[in-house]
Parts: sequence; structure tokens; C-alpha cells
Amino acid sequence: MHKSPPFHNAANEKLAAGLAKVGLVQRHHAWAASGQRGLTPTQSQILALLESRHRDGLPISMLAAESAVSQPTVSDAVAALERKGLAARSRSEADGRVVLVRLTAAGRRTAVQAAQWPDFLLRAIDSLDADERAAFLRGLVKMIHSLQEDGQIPVSRMCPSCDYFRPHAHADREHPHHCAFVDAPIGDTDLRIDCRDHKAAEANERPRLWQLFVGGRPPGPDVPRPALPKS
Ligand code: SF4
Repeated sequence: MHKSPPFHNAANEKLAAGLAKVGLVQRHHAWAASGQRGLTPTQSQILALLESRHRDGLPISMLAAESAVSQPTVSDAVAALERKGLAARSRSEADGRVVLVRLTAAGRRTAVQAAQWPDFLLRAIDSLDADERAAFLRGLVKMIHSLQEDGQIPVSRMCPSCDYFRPHAHADREHPHHCAFVDAPIGDTDLRIDCRDHKAAEANERPRLWQLFVGGRPPGPDVPRPALPKS
């Protein structure tokens, strides 16, 4: 009977252990930094989500879905943020039946501070050279995609699911992809994991985009597809 070599699984386990170590130090920092601001990590996460993605506000149910936390937990966190003057609930102007959670001015200031990446993590990433950073980012995008497909995490606003993304549109090895939003070539180190300008590609287009991204294409003439109009 065919047996797969043990090295493949051993490498996977070592990678999983390495990621867990990085996650552990990040969680420690998140707890400590949130504590210094008088917030829980969930409260910090909600502030960051509202600031970066939903400045017009979001219902509790959507906050729960996007932060992968239960609705009761989000409800408690929002109530605490309201008591601290960092968030407020109000009825949607578009649909009076919907109650939206919005940041107050103080909440926005706190969210911007909370969104800063810790220096120690940036220093650790700085220890990678350009090729290692590009390979690492590309690997992370693939892992996040797999976790999304598996339903483990909410969908991220990443380049490979974006209507503006043109994978391997250029022969340039440094900048093989094209972002039609800024109408410029981009490299693997430019790939975005949570882009404000992301526009979700149609569901039936996403698998093709993904296959083009991971499969690449043979070197050829540097001809990007036509840019889409900005919306
Ligand atoms: S708009 Fe953002 S997510 Fe979309 S292709 Fe450009 S950089 Fe990537």
C-alpha cells in the first residue's frame, strides 16, 4: 500500500506550530494593548472594523458575522463601548427598522490608535528579505483563501477576489499583476489582504480569478486587460 513520505506532514506541523507561536505573541500584545486602553480585545476589534470598513455603521448581526464572534458577545461589547462614549446606536436613514452601530468621534480616535501594528511585529517582518516577504504574503493569501472556503473565517477583501484584480497580466516578474482601480502593475508584496477599495468580483468569476492567480500563466506580451471604470 502506498504511503506518503512523513516529511510533508512534519513540515505542515512545524509551519502550524510556527504560526501558533506568532499568533500567541500577537494575542498577548492585543490583550495588553486593549487593557491599557480599558478595552477588551473584542471591543478593540469592533472599533477597528467600524473604522476601517463601515464608517456609515453596521447592524449587530453583521458585526458578529464579520468579526466571527457570537451576536450576544458583540451586543455586550457594543453596550460597553456605548457606556465609554466610543460607539452609539441609531436608526438607519435608509431603513428605519434597522439599528446601526456607529463610532463616535472619540471612538474613531481610539480605533485609529488600536489599528496600529505593534513595533515588535513590524521589526520581525523586517527581518525577511524582499523575496521572503513576497513568498510569505502570497502564502498567507492562499491560507486565508483556504480558511474562507472552509468557512473558518469571514471573507476578506483580498486582491484575488477583487473585480479590479488582473492576475499575471504583465510579463514583469517583479510586478506580474495589475490593479485596475489604480491602473498600475502590482507585485506579490503589493497584494492587499483588507483593501478599502476592494470590489467583490461576481461569484462565478471568483474561481477563475483564483485559478489565474495561483496557476499563473506563461511569460508573454505585457498586455493588461482594459481598466474598469472606478465606481
Ligand atoms: S482595488 Fe485593492 S483589492 Fe482590488 S486589486 Fe486593487 S489593491 Fe487589490
